[in-house]
Order: sequence, then structure tokens, then C-alpha cells
Amino acid sequence: MRLYNTLSKKVEEFKPKIEGKVNLYTCGPTVYNFSHVGNLRTYIFEDVLQKSLEYLGYDVKRVMNITDVGHMTSDADFGEDKMLKGAKREGKTVYEIADFYTKAFLNDMSKLNIAIPSIIEKASANVDIYIKIIERLLEKGYAYISNGNVYFDVSKAKDYYALSGKNPDDLLVAVRETVEDDKAKKSPFDFGLWFTISKFENQAMKWDSPWGVGYPGWHIECSGIAIKEFGDFVDIHCGGVDNIFPHHTNEIAQSEGYLGHEWCNFWCHGAHLNDKTGKMSKSNGEFLTLSLLESKGYRPLDYRYFCLSSHYRNTLVFTYESLDIAKNALTKLKKRVQNLEDNGIVNESQFNDYNNKFKEALSNDLNTAQMLTSVYDVLKDSELDDSTKLSLIRSFDCVLSLNLDSVEDFGIDEEFKKYIEEKIKIRDVAKKNKDFALADSIRDELLEKKVKLLDKKEGTTYTIVD
Ligand code: AMP
Ligand code: ZN
Repeated sequence: MRLYNTLSKKVEEFKPKIEGKVNLYTCGPTVYNFSHVGNLRTYIFEDVLQKSLEYLGYDVKRVMNITDVGHMTSDADFGEDKMLKGAKREGKTVYEIADFYTKAFLNDMSKLNIAIPSIIEKASANVDIYIKIIERLLEKGYAYISNGNVYFDVSKAKDYYALSGKNPDDLLVAVRETVEDDKAKKSPFDFGLWFTISKFENQAMKWDSPWGVGYPGWHIECSGIAIKEFGDFVDIHCGGVDNIFPHHTNEIAQSEGYLGHEWCNFWCHGAHLNDKTGKMSKSNGEFLTLSLLESKGYRPLDYRYFCLSSHYRNTLVFTYESLDIAKNALTKLKKRVQNLEDNGIVNESQFNDYNNKFKEALSNDLNTAQMLTSVYDVLKDSELDDSTKLSLIRSFDCVLSLNLDSVEDFGIDEEFKKYIEEKIKIRDVAKKNKDFALADSIRDELLEKKVKLLDKKEGTTYTIVD
């Protein structure tokens, strides 16, 4: 598997620490609002990564956090806790907000056929680990206490700028322009590990700690949860590009300071989805959620197809015109797949040839557009019989997860569906009784109504012909 590694800034051959097993950490959502489709693009990319690794035979353990405390309205340490902001907006407690939006997030994931990570941990449920890590960082001189808070001293970290490739002087200019100065810090890049109530009096979630009642910074949660679940090493760590600095940079500094060795040497980041105006936002312009797309008549998997059409490292601009193209392409593709008849006999050598091409596409830094092309190539190859085609497409769909072989809901009404199903039942009985004249007449009668019956190994399905 060749993947682009943000740390080395090259496409590299990926090798896990333990042969055949991959520890994959993916930063999860801050559950103060619905995810926008930009956030969901990142989770689709991570899902394709997980499934591609599995397709190549790796056993993947994927861990994701749910941020329900400590993430400020800015990625630095200032502003208001996003969760508190959400709670105020809706007149609910932060716990109610976290619960509601976690469920909404999982629901979006499942509609998009994103595999739910084997372990999902709430940030607020792991405070004991953060305290343990912070205590060790203080002991080892990586952290300091100032004005009641505990900060990480970035001047102590080895290669603090390696992941972002940023130049500290340029950063300093950016920081001076945008960040409110926290006088308690030695350097503007130092970041909070633990805040006491002296900083944010209104904080709803707080815990006792050796430094007073307070709450953890945002970055420590991912280090803490990853170390709890994976121990000393992570094989691949993912997120969107905005996570590179400061979030992932700070995760590396804390984790390596605590562990005393290199922690994760493969970092993969998904490029952003922007809207026409630029950065996608939850507060300005149209708040693009999956439910909004559904209310406009799109299927969630139309959006997945739209994402798969371009490479995860290319910035993508969301327009309804492009989503329409994806929707039409997926509908046509599903119809072509449903027209394939399955007799259960697969030509193994042809299967292997195409399957190898598909594996090449996914091993080539997750070339999803090429993976989709493999499906079209299989469909148009006249040398392949239908069963081999179906078998390949079903196999590819383990990664693509577009439900290519499931019965399309063609937008026909319930009554007509019932009528078709009833006719299929009568035809099944006729076939059993060897009354082929009746069976054929039912087939012809339905075809006149543009319903084409498809006899498959697992039973009869149908498609609507144009
Ligand atoms: P958040 O809920 O803000 O913590 O973000 C959740 C995930 O979405 C993170 O991995 C972010 O890097 C990612 N993300 C944020 N904005 C975008 C965007 N416009 N396009 C793609 N991914 C994004
Ligand atoms: Zn994280």
C-alpha cells in the first residue's frame, strides 16, 4: 500500500509495526452541532482507507474519539468551548447536546455506509488518562503551571514543526494577527493541557485534578485515547488537513514527550470540501448537512459517489450541479449492475486480472476515481460473463460501499411495488409447477410496464427499463 505521508511529504510504502495488523486512529467530531458534508468527506476518505487496507488483507483496529469537552471556538486555546456554545444555542445541557449530536453523527455515518470504528471513546470519559499523561509531562519538564493552568512548552519538543513543515517565524506573524494573547504562556505556541475554572468560569464539564477543578485541553484527548487503546505506537493517524496544525502537531509533542520515543510515523490527511464561497461553515451561508441533501432528493450514497470521484488529497468544491452528475452516474451504474444475470459460475483467471487492477488502484494512494473506472471497465468488457462481472463488482463494493448490487428504489410508488412483488410470487409458483407458459406471460406483462425481471441465484429481482 502506497500512501502520502504528511510527515515525510512523500508517497511511501506503508508498513505497520506488527505484520498484518494496523492500528488506525482517526480524529472524531466535536459534537456541538450536525456534521457538515465537508466533515463527512473526511470520514468517507478514512473509511476508504480502512476498507482498502482490509481488502489487502490487513486486520485493522480503528479508534475514534468523540470530542465533547475542551474544543474552543478556535483551534488554539481561546474563545468559548464549542460544546458550551451549542448548549447555550439550544437551551440544553452540554450532556444533552453531546448525546444528541453523537447519535446524529453515527446516523450520518451509517447512511454513508461508513464502517463504525471498532472503538469510539468520548473525550469526557478518559480524564484519568489525561491527568496521568500531564503529571508525567510536568515531571519530565515538558509542561509548566502558570496562572492555575498547565501548558505544554513547545520549545522542549523535538522537531515541533516537522509535521506541518511550517516556519516558526511565519507562524508567529499569523498568531500575532489572529490570537488573543494568553499572558500565562511562555510562548504563543504553548498550548493548554489542563485549564482550571480560573480561565473559563462557565465550563459545564469539570473534574478534580492535582492542579484544581478544571478540564482538559482539546489536543490531549486524542493522545490519551490513542495511548489507552494502542499503547506505545499508532500505525496511521488521520484527519482533515486543518488538523495538521496545531492539533496533530500538539498530539505528537505530548505523546512523544510522555512516551519518550517516536509515536506515529504515518500521517494521512484529507483535503477540504469547500463551498462556492470558500471555507465550509456551520454558521454562515447554507449549512450543508446530509439531511439537507436528502430533503432535496439526493441519496446519501450520491454524495459518497461524488466524493469518490475525486482524489482525497485534492480540494473539492461542492455544487449541486456536480452532485447531480454524481447522482445520475450512480443511478445508471446501479441499473447496469442490476441487469446482470447471475448463474453463480465465476471465471477465476478473469476475476483475478481485474481484481489485481482494482488492488493497484487502491494501493496507489487510494485512487478512488481509478477504482470507479475499474467498475466501468468490468461492465463494458464483452469477454466477461455476467456472473464474473457481478462477482467482481460485489467484491469492489466492499471498499466503494455504494450498494451497487442492491435493489434500486426507482421512485415507484408502494402500490406498484406490491403489484410487482405479487406477480413475482405467482411466477415463482408457476415455475415450480413447470407452468412455463404462465411464467413467461407474467414476465412479458411486466416488461410491457417497463419492469424487467432478473432471475438471480438468491431469487428474482427487477429493474425499471427506460
Ligand atoms: P470537527 O468536528 O470540527 O472536529 O471536524 C471533524 C473532522 O472534519 C476533522 O477531521 C476535520 O479535519 C474535518 N473537516 C473540517 N472541515 C472540513 C472540510 N471543509 N472538509 C473536509 N474535512 C473537514
Ligand atoms: Zn484528534
